[in-house]
Amino acid sequence: MTNSKIITPDRNLDRRKFIEKTSLGLGAITLGLSPSCLGDERKKHVNQNKKLGIALVGLGYYGRILGEALQETRNCYLAGIVTGTPAKEKEWQEKYNVKPGNTYNYQNFDDIAKNDEIDIIYVVLPNSMHKEFTIRAAQAGKHVICEKPMALNAQECREMIAACEKAGVKLSIGYRMHFEPTTQEIIRIGKEQVYGTIKFVGASAGYTHNNVDHWKCKKNMGGGVMMDMGVYPLQAARYATGEEPVSVTAQTFVNRPEMFNEVDETTTFQLEFPSGAVANLHTSFYTSINYLYVAASEGWYSLNPFSSYRGIKGDSKNGPLNFPVINQQAAQMDEVAECVRQNKPMRVPGEEGLRDMIVVDAIYQSLASGKKIQLS
Ligand code: NAD
Repeated sequence: MTNSKIITPDRNLDRRKFIEKTSLGLGAITLGLSPSCLGDERKKHVNQNKKLGIALVGLGYYGRILGEALQETRNCYLAGIVTGTPAKEKEWQEKYNVKPGNTYNYQNFDDIAKNDEIDIIYVVLPNSMHKEFTIRAAQAGKHVICEKPMALNAQECREMIAACEKAGVKLSIGYRMHFEPTTQEIIRIGKEQVYGTIKFVGASAGYTHNNVDHWKCKKNMGGGVMMDMGVYPLQAARYATGEEPVSVTAQTFVNRPEMFNEVDETTTFQLEFPSGAVANLHTSFYTSINYLYVAASEGWYSLNPFSSYRGIKGDSKNGPLNFPVINQQAAQMDEVAECVRQNKPMRVPGEEGLRDMIVVDAIYQSLASGKKIQLS
């Protein structure tokens, strides 16, 4: 079952309605699923009580965090690994009891199509590899979670969404904050206008990146701070306002040109929203920083930090926002698994990654031209 701590009353209601309507044979249509998805879900019936098997593709820094989180999940478990480093195969097999038969490399990855123990493939590779492995996973008939940023640009995101639709599999993006209770409260406050209309959002996410040889410093690998940390303040401005920006203006700054000669080290960007709200956002590989601040017509609220793995701390004009601390990655994967089992739409579908990449494309256009870019 889904982690009860992260289910809102609304979502329980949706689920109850879904079950009622499914029994009438109308559930998928009511949820707006595409015909290809409908047909495929019938074809690949998932046992609703089964713990789903997840295979992690890429066992680097974040792959390890997900591997640990999968020890805390209830709806899914670490069933397989995909790695290009033979030494990691044995290490992971022993540490997490992964079967040798569920161990793949990047070359024989497509054989995973024949493996019934793998239901979901989680792509945790450098950004430039997200599109290829998401599409290969979909073609293998597996549901996909792809890490953020979804791809190198919006066009790649569209191709990934199309491939998943064609294969009739679900796609979700690894935006873990959507599963975090205090962040969900920020979204609710904005939606219900608890403090009136939102006028300003300020947010910043950064850490000091010192590894010059890392792919995050390489343009062709999808490096750069906007791609890496910048999507957090961008996401925050979008989920806090519940709106899509109509324009973007961006600036970039370099403190260590010897290290950041291909990609951005610090980027600031401003978004204008249809309601008149404005966001001033910052991301940096030079500075350790993490906050979100929302000013509305009747008050303010904030998170500091707003996108850390733990310790999200909320405050507001009326006092602290106190919500339970959870394992975000475990909650995210549990909910994705539950959506697969129940054939429900994803909380964070591919389209959410696409919406961010449309803005990121515009940010890079603004950096190149020095101009404000209109989005609609
Ligand atoms: P990492 O460099 O630590 O790991 C990347 C993995 O990909 C490594 O295991 C590496 O061996 C493998 N790999 C395969 N081909 C490679 C190649 N050509 N060059 C480099 N590595 C290659 O990176 P990471 O920090 O784990 O990031 C992986 C993905 O996860 C990125 O998309 C990143 O944005 C995302 N991420 C998400 C979060 C989050 O909180 N959601 C946090 C960190 C990273």
